[in-house]
Amino acid sequence: DQLAARVRELIHDVPDYPEPGVVFKDITPLLADGPVFRAVVDRMAAAAPGPVDLVVGMEARGFILGAPVAAALGAGFIPARKAGKLPRETVTGAYDLEYGSAVLEVHADTIGHGARVLVVDDVLATGGTAAATVELIGRTGGEVVGLSFLMELTFLHGREKLAGQRLDVVVGF
Ligand code: 5GP
Repeated sequence: DQLAARVRELIHDVPDYPEPGVVFKDITPLLADGPVFRAVVDRMAAAAPGPVDLVVGMEARGFILGAPVAAALGAGFIPARKAGKLPRETVTGAYDLEYGSAVLEVHADTIGHGARVLVVDDVLATGGTAAATVELIGRTGGEVVGLSFLMELTFLHGREKLAGQRLDVVVGF
């Protein structure tokens, strides 16, 4: 469709970043385009499967997309932060990245039991980040009702780590 075509044009390939052999998809040109940014947020919010209490966005680009998606849905926003950034007691999930490994955490008391949670991030790559986030939300008592990504790098087969989850993507590469 028309939006997907515009989104593709505004995502720039950066070869050998952050290390040789990786082609990084840079979304900053898309974020800088007001009408496309708004349309993407509206599309991601519209794809939510039923009522959503909370949106969880992963640091850092999941914050940029997740917060406006939450506001559009009238849902709360929970930042899943990298290790050591949150001041109170946290629940932690470790994961492997396309390049390196890391830890994400949320405050232990912010996702109520049975809360319906939508996970939002810019890129589904290997799926490690998303799978760790789903697991983390489960341990806080939340129920993941779906995951919404701006783009999926299909050749990395991240979907396989998210079997049984509802996935929405704006564009696939
Ligand atoms: P995964 O855990 O699925 O391998 O990696 C997904 C995470 O890494 C996302 O949080 C995403 O922001 C980041 N990421 C991985 N590759 C890229 C990329 O090419 N472009 C951007 N913008 N983010 C990426």
